[in-house]
Amino acid sequence: MKIVLENLTKKFPARGKKSQGYVTAVDNFTCEIPDGELVGLLGPSGCGKSTTLNMICGLEKPTGGKIFFGSEDVTALSPELRGVGMVFQNYALYPHLNVKENIQFPLENLKGKDKLTKKEMESRVMEAARLVQIEDLMDRKPRELSGGQQQRVAIARALVKYPRVLLLDEPLSNLDARLRLQTREEIRKIQKKTGITTVFVTHDQDEAMSICDRIAVMKSGVLMQQGKPQEVYDDPENLFVARFLGIPPINVFQGYVRSRMLFIGDAPVLSVGEVPDQEVWVGIRPEGFIPCEDGPLVCRLERIEVMGRDITVISAHSACTGPAVRSIISGESPVDPAAQTVQFALKPGKVFLFQKETEERIRAKKGKQQ
Ligand code: ATP
Repeated sequence: MKIVLENLTKKFPARGKKSQGYVTAVDNFTCEIPDGELVGLLGPSGCGKSTTLNMICGLEKPTGGKIFFGSEDVTALSPELRGVGMVFQNYALYPHLNVKENIQFPLENLKGKDKLTKKEMESRVMEAARLVQIEDLMDRKPRELSGGQQQRVAIARALVKYPRVLLLDEPLSNLDARLRLQTREEIRKIQKKTGITTVFVTHDQDEAMSICDRIAVMKSGVLMQQGKPQEVYDDPENLFVARFLGIPPINVFQGYVRSRMLFIGDAPVLSVGEVPDQEVWVGIRPEGFIPCEDGPLVCRLERIEVMGRDITVISAHSACTGPAVRSIISGESPVDPAAQTVQFALKPGKVFLFQKETEERIRAKKGKQQ
């Protein structure tokens, strides 16, 4: 089921004596979520992810814009009639019901042609339980389950009604690091197996990048960029997106372009093609540095961290906006840990230029992007 969000906007009345007017939680959000895909809504706390999800679900009424499931306009439909399954961060299981009863609960209230017999209900409950591998826990109460198991029950309960759309709001944030990794893989598997169009809200870019077919990055209610995770990482449209994706984060320097040459400090570091002369922000991915003796970017070496195959070189440069320059290089590249400085050449595909004022990406007019 394809989901289309068209100019979706949500304004909340601002509370408090001093505040006036309203808070725009979601601002003119337009996005198409293809049938059968897992899409991650990603952004920092307060950027409007949950509000967007709640509008898709029907729990919040948009102030403006429309929501379509396929060609059907569902904007005015109540949540029960939308055919969505929702999983919340805190699982929201009924504590007095056992696992089987929790999963079965959404089926109990089906009416008319959708009403199921007891046998049909049992078969559906078992099917959902098998999908998330909790068949052996059916008689337990939620308090007798681990966080990961509770989350699976919540997912089974969302799937049991055969929803058209599955919505997951920070489903992994109550799990420990190891279980998060495992559970996110499971969510991916279940989503692939069922083929249900799924929207997954998270503030964890690593989580979104690793399991989503597409990501949509939000800031202050506005959609900044959407696309396949690798494409967005490789081709950010603005400094916010470039900074938000990637661990370690992108290194940002103050620089300027003169006669098609990029300067950091006073050093000409890269030829950038047809870009007008101007001051710029320079984003360099950690994997964009090549240590070499006559490299034009000269940094003060602080230390080297060896991490299996790769090494991280931590250095400093006066034009860097962060406390350190982090570069990841292959373990075979020679960097003398006792040296005072380290010199780098730059990989053009890993260096991005951004407008100083707007922080929008600057692309060379002709030929390859810088
Ligand atoms: P988090 O990751 O912290 O859950 P989020 O990206 O999901 O954040 P939202 O919960 O959608 O963000 O909130 C977006 C903005 O709307 C925030 O500024 C929030 O304070 C505001 N907001 C959300 N719900 C309401 C409400 N019911 N009344 C007033 N303001 C609200």
